[in-house]
Amino acid sequence: METAAERIDLLSLDREGLEALAVKFGYKTFQGRNLLKWIHKHGVIDFEAMTDLPQRLRDQLIEQTEIRVPEVVFEQPSNDGTVKWVVELHDGQRIESVYIPEEGRSTLCVSSQVGCALDCSFCSTAQQGFNRNLTAGEIVAQVWVSAHRMQLPVTNVVMMGMGEPLANFDAVVTAMNLMQDDLGLKLSKHKITLSTSGIVPALNKLREKSDVCLAVSLHAADNALRDELVPINKKYPLEELIPACKEFIKNDKRRKITWEYVMLDGINDTNKHAKALIRLLEGVPSKINLIPFNPFPGTDYKTSSPERVDAFRNKLMKAGLFTVTRKTRGDDIDAACGQLVGRVQDRSRRQLRRVNSTKVKAPSTATGKPLNGEVR
Ligand code: SAH
Repeated sequence: METAAERIDLLSLDREGLEALAVKFGYKTFQGRNLLKWIHKHGVIDFEAMTDLPQRLRDQLIEQTEIRVPEVVFEQPSNDGTVKWVVELHDGQRIESVYIPEEGRSTLCVSSQVGCALDCSFCSTAQQGFNRNLTAGEIVAQVWVSAHRMQLPVTNVVMMGMGEPLANFDAVVTAMNLMQDDLGLKLSKHKITLSTSGIVPALNKLREKSDVCLAVSLHAADNALRDELVPINKKYPLEELIPACKEFIKNDKRRKITWEYVMLDGINDTNKHAKALIRLLEGVPSKINLIPFNPFPGTDYKTSSPERVDAFRNKLMKAGLFTVTRKTRGDDIDAACGQLVGRVQDRSRRQLRRVNSTKVKAPSTATGKPLNGEVR
């Protein structure tokens, strides 16, 4: 018998992977597809309950594989129906997922990494530093856990939780394939959105591998300001990012890029900034998502006033740019954008560096709040 560490992690295998596994165990590929259906469509993790699999195959699965379902260690419902889960992985690392119910749909905000290595100056996950990538199984499991706890299927997935999805490319693509699989969750490409800060080479590669919706964290329309807010811009500046985004949607006239733009008081929210944004996006099929900044302890940034957000939005709309202001959901539970903070064991030692920096004070946890009420 193999030890747990050597077992094959079934949740990390997509259709191809499960078919290959069935063949490896001496069966036809369709048994792999059956397995996929049991796990992802029916949410069954007990091999003995997979009644149409041959008994010997079930025995092999029991002996050599596992379906690693992470444990929810903390559940916090918000006043508006949003629910945050802190999910503990097998190595004790914690990530967060947020369930957002809306009229006729339920969206899950999914994490792709433990922490984040990108250091965007207005994001509280960034302050936690980075520990590791999630496996495809750990990404998909968040959807699985949500469906089980809510007893409702997830209808939309946004890769907007902790982490930069394109910095964990293979696992994220495998997980999104599983979410789309007809035998699994069967989410259409229109119901999955990957949000990126703009890692251009990975974006170009994604074009070949996936046709999910793309959201890009723009936040500034000129390089100098974007360098400050989204430092990865120094490596992949706007003159590389914008063409790569255009290329991403060029084969389908109905597709648009969603541009995320956090509204920071006095930093990127003036009429001058709106004009620069209009100029930058000329000719790019776009939808703009204005996100009121969610403050967190230790940050110097302030949220733009609702009047400023409205004025900014009107200016963009007048120029023909479809713009919505994102409703802040779950902000009473630190589950809004940029507030998804688990307890990350920081491998980049960023928190330590920040203690010595004057700009951001190092909080004891990034939200400044202990994770009270944890159920273990
Ligand atoms: N790394 C990915 C996804 C993570 S965050 C990305 O950069 O797109 C999802 C969105 O929330 C991003 O647009 C991010 O810039 C934004 N965000 C982060 N911190 C925020 C905060 N404190 N207030 C409002 N939006 C924030």
